[in-house]
Amino acid sequence: LNRRLEGLGTTIFAEMSALALATGAINLGQGFPDTDGPEAVREAAVRALRDGRGNQYPPGPGVPELRHAITAHQQRFYGLDFDPDTEVLVTAGATEAIAAAMLALLEPGDEVIAFEPFYDSYAACVAMAGGVRVPLTLHAPDFRPDLDALRAAVTPRTRLLLLNSPHNPTGMVLTAAELAAIAELAVERDLLVVTDEVYEHLVFDGAAHTPLISLPGMRDRTVSISSAGKTFSFTGWKVGWVTGSPELVAAVRTTKQFLTYVASGPFQYAVAEALALPDSYYAHFATDLREKRDLLAAGLRAAGFQVYEPQGTYFITTDIAALAPGKDALTFCRTLPERAGVVAVPNSVFYDHPTAGRTQVRFAFCKKPDVLQEAANRLRRST
Ligand code: PMP
Ligand code: GLN
Repeated sequence: LNRRLEGLGTTIFAEMSALALATGAINLGQGFPDTDGPEAVREAAVRALRDGRGNQYPPGPGVPELRHAITAHQQRFYGLDFDPDTEVLVTAGATEAIAAAMLALLEPGDEVIAFEPFYDSYAACVAMAGGVRVPLTLHAPDFRPDLDALRAAVTPRTRLLLLNSPHNPTGMVLTAAELAAIAELAVERDLLVVTDEVYEHLVFDGAAHTPLISLPGMRDRTVSISSAGKTFSFTGWKVGWVTGSPELVAAVRTTKQFLTYVASGPFQYAVAEALALPDSYYAHFATDLREKRDLLAAGLRAAGFQVYEPQGTYFITTDIAALAPGKDALTFCRTLPERAGVVAVPNSVFYDHPTAGRTQVRFAFCKKPDVLQEAANRLRRST
């Protein structure tokens, strides 16, 4: 491994999912649903396979049907207009979009500001592009960004902000006022912004997701990223996308060509149909998840965890300080499957900050209610 990637060995998701397999524990670690997405969308994938659509290399930017569906989705939910030919790029999940964006937009030594805890691919992709990550710590209990600290973190070397809202792992959703302040700063300091919006439809309790690119001055400096994995419960399909100005999308397309070139041919057609599902699908999906959140949150509280209620995503961040005095999250999570038959993820690995996430543990609630209940029962018995 080259020096840029020092300290970035095995992702915590692989480690914890392997532990789940080895112990037979309930896996509330890695974020993936235990119920696949809509039958009609699976049928669409089968049809595409059978009819020979996408079985050979699809077009580099993505199949036209999907690019049109993405623009229709951006129009329907956010009133945003994109040109499907020049302002949309289909990627192998959001993961490839993040990597391609970092490789396309960073010069060696450029600084990238990102809120920590951050999704683990951010540090790796910034490093692979030769950039320097500048973490801005979100603090419990509400994980709101400190906008003065953000402003102070910008230096002449700052090239871009890498934002994630709704935020994994804390569930924080940026408010309209926070978005406006971030946009104002980006314009003032002439920064690019890459926004990871994969949880755009997983928001609760009146919190709303607004793409930063819709704010004044942001249309030509923002790369918006999303993915079908979370919204439609097909994390294995790896269909993601980028929207933005023709210049920025062309830059990301250039690097993407040499990463995968293309991916997921038949699934692209199926995701085009998924994006066209009626509003009721999206609304029901969020309601269902909110019920699961409430179920797991109650179970975790009953087991002695301090729960930080998420406004979005399908993760609950907890604190174990009172429950397991003196224990750090990584040690706690490595022994939890044996002790309790449940797998969780330590948020500490998503921080550079030495102490802020030391006792934070994340649980995924995108699971069937009886699975969540059983996990909660096991945790209560073990604590
Ligand atoms: N960004 C965040 C914040 C995520 O949580 C995930 C999925 N775990 C991704 C990106 C990756 O998305 P995909 O599976 O579409 O590559
Ligand atoms: N996004 C998922 C999570 O945060 C995991 C994705 C992965 O395993 N890379 O749990």
